[in-house]
Amino acid sequence: MTAAIFPQLEIPETLAAGPGPGNTDARVLARFAAAGVADHMQPDVLRGMVECKHMLRHIWGTDNIHTFGVAGTGWSGLDAMVSAVMPGDKVVAFANGTFSGIDALSLRIRAATKEEMAANPINPQTASVIVVEIPHGSSVDAQAVEDALAEHKPKWALMAHWETGSGRINDIRGFSDACERHGVLGLVDAVSSLGVADFRIDDYPGVAGWASCPQKGICCLPLTYAPVSFTDAYIDELKAHGAYAYANHPIFEARHWGIVEGKDVEKGTYHRTHSAYAVAAFHESLRLTLEQGIADRAQSYETHESVLREAVEAIGCKVTSNMTSLVVLDLPGNLRGREMELVQHCRARNFGIWPTLGEPVQVRIGILNQLNRDAVTNIVNRFAQAIRDLGGQADQDVIDSILNRRYGQSVAAE
Ligand SMILES: *Cc1c(COP(=O)(O)O)cnc(C)c1O
Repeated sequence: MTAAIFPQLEIPETLAAGPGPGNTDARVLARFAAAGVADHMQPDVLRGMVECKHMLRHIWGTDNIHTFGVAGTGWSGLDAMVSAVMPGDKVVAFANGTFSGIDALSLRIRAATKEEMAANPINPQTASVIVVEIPHGSSVDAQAVEDALAEHKPKWALMAHWETGSGRINDIRGFSDACERHGVLGLVDAVSSLGVADFRIDDYPGVAGWASCPQKGICCLPLTYAPVSFTDAYIDELKAHGAYAYANHPIFEARHWGIVEGKDVEKGTYHRTHSAYAVAAFHESLRLTLEQGIADRAQSYETHESVLREAVEAIGCKVTSNMTSLVVLDLPGNLRGREMELVQHCRARNFGIWPTLGEPVQVRIGILNQLNRDAVTNIVNRFAQAIRDLGGQADQDVIDSILNRRYGQSVAAE
């Protein structure tokens, strides 16, 4: 047998203009590359992890001692968050798109009895998990949460904060209040909202567990850490009932971040290997977030999303989302049904927009870490060009005049 060594892997520079991953800041990549070779018990690595923990608490507005990062992506943090859900636990999950649908699956896996799991190992139909389906394109509102919790009286409830599949913001105020009223432990998938929306965990006392990701609002793709935060009530559940997990077990995982027996300690203790490169990159992305400030960043997303929205609406698209990190849209009438073709056309030109991942097929254009005039202009112009390439209408003069009006005449739009 001959061993084949493939040529070195070259990956092109693309414009990441989708729902995520976003564009990792050059400063973050520089810290990743500049970290020295060091193991996960080296003092500066441990100090970096402790500093990350403190910065994360600040960014997320919480005194929750169990606030740290879970190595991996969003699903790693979400896996840690649902780890306290035990077989047979009663859960209500709200699903209004791709990601909250997968959240519901992960709860059905956690809460399944042995028999339910054996009957359908990949997609257990768990009787104790009630999934409240909200149509694609709609948000989960306070009334839907109140009705479901009042009717089912579950132990746990889970909702996505921002459902990236359809670009819809769900009502975490209503969710938290209903969880408090009914004595339910709330869990929130905050994968898309952290670092983009201006909110504080401690304003939502009905929510016991939060999980996010590195590569969306925190702009740290070099597979680093999924931020998570848990209240003492959540940790008490783990202490009482345990979790069928080791690597993503919140109590074990917290130790390496210097959280031992519910207290901050000076340095972490071994839980699993951590990467000095990942710690350095994550640390820099948190510093960047704090430098800009959550409120300012949220404001900037609002501004630039509204420019993008106005421009695509002028092209005849119908926007159905209300998140500020992306627009989700239907193409103009004469291009309806050609969404996948348009997305593929753009992606072939290293312009990385996305379709929705299920029905109905829509186009998603994102602005993660693209918060300036040049970047939004580039995204709008490339999208308009793609519309024209497919035979649609996109009047460049109209687009230019929108961009000039919104951003001011002083700098010429490219
Ligand atoms: C992106 C996303 C996920 C999945 O995160 P990964 O980083 O792909 O593991 C889950 N939930 C929501 C709401 C998301 O936007």
